[in-house]
Amino acid sequence: MAKCKSCDKKGLFLKVSKVGLCKDCDPRVTEDITTHSNVIYEEMHVFERAVETPEKLEALDKILAAAKHLVAYEDKGLETCSPPAKLVLDEYTGFKNDLAKS
Ligand SMILES: [Zn+2]
Repeated sequence: MAKCKSCDKKGLFLKVSKVGLCKDCDPRVTEDITTHSNVIYEEMHVFERAVETPEKLEALDKILAAAKHLVAYEDKGLETCSPPAKLVLDEYTGFKNDLAKS
């Protein structure tokens, strides 16, 4: 029986996309994942190029917020960005702690 990974709707006649989403969730969730993944990619570049600590912290906060948002989807078994949001969250939380120490 098909079951939607986002809204948990299930049924014999429910059609889900190849990633496991029903037709109501698929466009919405796909767009939301794309939007937040793009924030992560863009802010990663900002972070790499940033020289000043406040600038780095601002980029880090945006990355962490977007990654947290995506981790919720990963917990439901969906693929989000690459590398996975969980790894991004771990790695950038570490960077933030290092910055706070320096
Ligand atoms: Zn759904």
